[in-house]
Amino acid sequence: MKSFLRKTYNINFDKILKLPGYDIENFVGYCGNSKYIIKKYLHSKNIINQINSENALLSHLNLRDSIYPKPIKNRNGEYLGIYNNGENTYVVRLLSYLDGKFLGEIKQTKNILESLGSFTAEMNKSILGYQDLFISSRVWQWDIQYLHLNEKFINDIESFRDRKLVNYFFQQFNEVVIPILPSLRKSIIHNDLNEWNILCNDKGVSGVIDFGDIAYSQLVNEVAIAMTYGAYDKDDPITNSSYILSSYHKKLPLKNDEISLLYYLITAKLCMSVCNSAHSRKINPNNKYALISEKNAWKTLKKFIKYSPRFVENKFRNCLNIESKKTLNSKKIKSERGKIISKIFSLSYDEPIAMERSAFQYMFDYEGNSYLDAYNNVPHVGHCHPRVIDAASKQMKKLNTNTRYLYDIINMYGGKLLKKFNKSLNRVYFVNSGSEASDLAIKLALAYSKNKNIMVMENGYHGHTQRGTDISAYKFNHPKGQGKKDYITVVPMPTKKDFENENNFISETIKKIKNIAAFICEPILGCGGQVPLPKNYLNKVYKEIRDNGGVCISDEVQTGFGRLGKVFWGFELYNVVPDIVVLGKSMGNGHPIGAVITSDRIASKFSEGVEFFSSFGGNPVSCAVGSSVLDIIEDEKLQDNAKIVGQYYKKELQKLKNKHKVIGDVRGEGLFLGIEIINEKNLKPDKKLAHLLKNKLREKYILVGTDGPHNNVIKSKPPICFSEEDVKLVVKSIDKILCKL
Ligand code: PMP
Repeated sequence: MKSFLRKTYNINFDKILKLPGYDIENFVGYCGNSKYIIKKYLHSKNIINQINSENALLSHLNLRDSIYPKPIKNRNGEYLGIYNNGENTYVVRLLSYLDGKFLGEIKQTKNILESLGSFTAEMNKSILGYQDLFISSRVWQWDIQYLHLNEKFINDIESFRDRKLVNYFFQQFNEVVIPILPSLRKSIIHNDLNEWNILCNDKGVSGVIDFGDIAYSQLVNEVAIAMTYGAYDKDDPITNSSYILSSYHKKLPLKNDEISLLYYLITAKLCMSVCNSAHSRKINPNNKYALISEKNAWKTLKKFIKYSPRFVENKFRNCLNIESKKTLNSKKIKSERGKIISKIFSLSYDEPIAMERSAFQYMFDYEGNSYLDAYNNVPHVGHCHPRVIDAASKQMKKLNTNTRYLYDIINMYGGKLLKKFNKSLNRVYFVNSGSEASDLAIKLALAYSKNKNIMVMENGYHGHTQRGTDISAYKFNHPKGQGKKDYITVVPMPTKKDFENENNFISETIKKIKNIAAFICEPILGCGGQVPLPKNYLNKVYKEIRDNGGVCISDEVQTGFGRLGKVFWGFELYNVVPDIVVLGKSMGNGHPIGAVITSDRIASKFSEGVEFFSSFGGNPVSCAVGSSVLDIIEDEKLQDNAKIVGQYYKKELQKLKNKHKVIGDVRGEGLFLGIEIINEKNLKPDKKLAHLLKNKLREKYILVGTDGPHNNVIKSKPPICFSEEDVKLVVKSIDKILCKL
């Protein structure tokens, strides 16, 4: 190499050292007091075109040695040399060496980041209008406008949970950015203003190197990329990247649309980075260069998922002194809703929240606030899970119809769902909600049993239909409720002392079994305030019901699908197998779907009656959604997560109980927990305090609910991707609120 360089460039190098890098080989060559950058590329027509374009751009730019690298001509007055080491042919090029420290080596102060913003704007201004046919025709994965070309690398990301994050941002990009891209300004840009391509001196940014990624792309991508690296590994990525943005904007003002997209462009750049790192790590596990940037990119991406796009946009607009976009006002939405929607639909909180978007365990309101969702169990695997969205939209584009036609997805999903049950439970009916499912479950029971009555649990809730209301003591026993129907038998919910004297409690229940066609009950009583059942309760009561000609229904609408951690279905906590199981809520992660699972024996009896048909129940789209939920629970090991995080959550809440007398009990399983709030003097249920705590948590951007017969139990049943970090935040916040009482 040395002799090649001597012959071609007439430079006698004393020493040549290799620099770390991704694909091409870079060296520093020392010759007396002078230093040069030597770049060596595998020979190809494409690379020659690219280098020519790079050199032409560098020549176009105002070439002051200290700002941009200057291409060095060889003896023949050309910028390239062809070198053959006997094995391969290489193209070699020399560039002037720029002095300075890399941005990655120094403290990234406000001044430095502002100087990067101005520098970037000046550079972009010098290139605006410059054209290059080769660069314009380049389509490759390091250009944000071609983000989709990175999709093939997503599967190289090892963890399913990490893949979820990247898929989410890809979907958001497709949804928000792609339609606007064609209308944005384009220019040739450097396209890789990372901290190892930017040089600094005492005064700020002094130079930029590595024009190997130049692209003809949307102009805004340049500042978005600089901002991405400016956000890396920072406690407050938004403020830090704002410094770059505001100084850029002063020299080269951004347009409205460009500012709106920054959140999506930054996250797209981070996704490109993690996709390519995962890919290069797969190909070359020893590539440390890829690993370093990968770690920082993941860290930043995981920070961004907690921000609402609106919050980020408002922050950016704020730093540019541009007014935030007009937003919907929650008071206005509420008053309009009052004119259209019946007031029977209640709203949470003294000050209801107007929600705009959501992601995993976060919800975002119209003002840009992020809430930690410690409450909602319907988005079971996480709000807006990309695989659920994908499953629904793909199937919607293909076929959606009713069960009177043959299609295989219902068999596939039905089979997959039944595999989660004991073999005796081998028939599934698909409906559209938990209410419909419990309604149908009662129909099945009445068709099967000769008995006429239904036994229900005190404070139980199973649905909103007329039958649902009939069997829901929570509703019919309410002071404003319809009252108990004659065919209903109510059995008591266990209290703390019933756990000590379990046999007594069970025999009291058994005494009530007369003419019972079905006993419906949840394994942990949700509306009752997350109350579990005594250990042998279901076993003994189920036996008695069956011995008396009835069937046993487990309502798993809230407790099913791995939420309880230890078990996939709530009834498994008690080692029983019901005759009928009711499913809903989490089954479709927000898509309306419910199901009834039963045995052939019960199903056959029902089939003797009039046809059962549900227009939407079991449609291909719902099946695709339901199937994706099951796959996600398995792939992301979410049942394990519910177990581990749930145990931690309960332990931390129990510690709080020891500290605060107003916590009377902490109960539940996995990520299905209840915190009973009592009056510290008389130990009676304290509905007011529970209400206050719920509203105070809302002020701290944490969502929980209240329930139980006295409405004094704080319910936490979050999406089961909830993390220990989330738990810490909830527990710390409850502690702070209770300490201030
Ligand atoms: N069963 C239980 C245990 C429930 O909690 C609910 C809803 N809260 C239902 C049935 C009814 O489900 P849906 O609201 O989907 O009709």
